[in-house]
Amino acid sequence: MAQRVLIVGAGPGGLATAMLLAKAGLEVTVFESQGQVGGRTSAIEGDGYRFDLGPTFFLYPQVLEEIFAEVGRDLHREVPMTRLDPQYRLSFGAGGELLCRSDVEQMVAEISKLAPADAPEFRRFMAYNRVKLEKFAPCLQTPFLGWSDLMQGRLLAVLPYLKPWKSLHAELASHFRDPRLQLAFTFQSKYLGMSPFECPSLFSILSFLEYEHGIWHPTGGCNALTRGMARVATELGATIRLREPVKQILFEGRRAVGVRTDQGEFRADAVVVNADFGYAMTTLVPNALRRRWTDEAIAAKRFSCSTFMLYLGVEGRCEQLQHHNIHIAAQYRQNLEDIEKRHVLTEDPSFYVENPCRTDPSMAPPGHSALYVLVPVSHQHPNIDWQKERARYRQVALRQLAKLGLADIEKRIRFERIVTPADWESKVGIYRGATFNLAHNLGQMLHLRPRNRFEDFDRMYLVGGGTHPGSGLPVIFESARISSRLLLEDLHRRRD
Ligand SMILES: Cc1cc2nc3c(=O)[nH]c(=O)nc-3n(C[C@H](O)[C@H](O)[C@H](O)COP(=O)(O)OP(=O)(O)OC[C@H]3O[C@@H](n4cnc5c(N)ncnc54)[C@H](O)[C@@H]3O)c2cc1C
Repeated sequence: MAQRVLIVGAGPGGLATAMLLAKAGLEVTVFESQGQVGGRTSAIEGDGYRFDLGPTFFLYPQVLEEIFAEVGRDLHREVPMTRLDPQYRLSFGAGGELLCRSDVEQMVAEISKLAPADAPEFRRFMAYNRVKLEKFAPCLQTPFLGWSDLMQGRLLAVLPYLKPWKSLHAELASHFRDPRLQLAFTFQSKYLGMSPFECPSLFSILSFLEYEHGIWHPTGGCNALTRGMARVATELGATIRLREPVKQILFEGRRAVGVRTDQGEFRADAVVVNADFGYAMTTLVPNALRRRWTDEAIAAKRFSCSTFMLYLGVEGRCEQLQHHNIHIAAQYRQNLEDIEKRHVLTEDPSFYVENPCRTDPSMAPPGHSALYVLVPVSHQHPNIDWQKERARYRQVALRQLAKLGLADIEKRIRFERIVTPADWESKVGIYRGATFNLAHNLGQMLHLRPRNRFEDFDRMYLVGGGTHPGSGLPVIFESARISSRLLLEDLHRRRD
């Protein structure tokens, strides 16, 4: 009889795991609390507009391509996608803008317009980070289950590139002199929900990845990835039960043996948790049972920032926008400190706007636009009461859009949805509304992050942004590969 695995959550991590384990011949059931798959990588739809709820940048498709190939499918056939060029436009509150091209030589030409003396350095930056990623990639592909894993040859090989004493920003300042360029190649730390002044220098590989492997737009948005994955997982035999939240994980001694939902109790040989780590532990597993990750230990961890979101269905096209548009505030450092240290709202914040109809008209009715506006803000903190701030901060965000030539936007709005950090916490089930999970400081990475083969219990595995390697789609897919491999090893060992 096939061995049974239960997966809590149909986010990208849970769905990739379902594909791999179903292909390996296990009987897989995925429980999902929402009425659709995808979690943070799902869609908001209304009045003919479609928006990604969360991810809009699909980087480094290789990992997901390999997962699809492993189950006998072709990612690009299942989910058509386009490589973007320009990748995005950066505008600087300090003055000037940079059109970021996917081709290195065209990018050098664009940099020359902003900071000619720095332009040739871009080629060296790429060459250096190519080697750095090559050395670090094996660390992202293997589990870190204890201190001894730190002594592996592959981690020792990357040490000269790790520079743990250096922040990402300090690393980039050694490449580029113009402060705007330093930000152009460090703001990507926001993908991890971190300030480049705090983020480890290791993460210069993020901007490198964009230029080396591209920024991709799946047709219909990144949510098309999770819809495609759910379709394939189901075709491989997995069952996905929507609107069925897990209320409790069941244990016998220290072994996870199943889950309880409103429909009853389900027993299994292993349980995989894809739901947000902090939220899942504090709501689905009694505190007294946990050894390392108690409520108190989780509360003492560092968490990523959150996001204030506007999803706007707008009449007319927005030709002044590229597909991706990022505005970096004049007082960038102060904006980051407001988010991460002072936990207050900034009145002139950095922000990001996606205008996907430029590439993909399917996202809005003909002649209309579906704008996605993201303002990085503090995770939930007593300093900010979102019930009070919600309407006021909407006005702040709309006012900021004038900086991108959208001064008239409010009267063109035909559909609108707002998501605040309080909504991320209460409606999406994200601990403290920290949209990018536990922070990625060195003290919370590798074996110090909650482990793929979860250390507090037997037969429990973690996938998604809360475990190793971390948050962001490519590494979340990597976590699914690592955890599936460990789970299969453990079940095979037991059968043998
Ligand atoms: C605003 C935003 C923008 C982002 N932008 C990018 C980007 O551009 N590029 C990128 O690579 N990454 C981005 N990310 C980060 C990351 O890729 C996504 O958040 C990703 O969806 C996280 O995947 P996950 O597998 O960890 O789980 P999630 O997407 O969080 O999915 C977990 C699932 O578990 C379900 N669940 C929770 N509790 C239960 C329960 N008790 N029972 C059953 N089901 C449950 C949830 O409903 C959810 O469906 C972004 C995130 C956000 C929020």
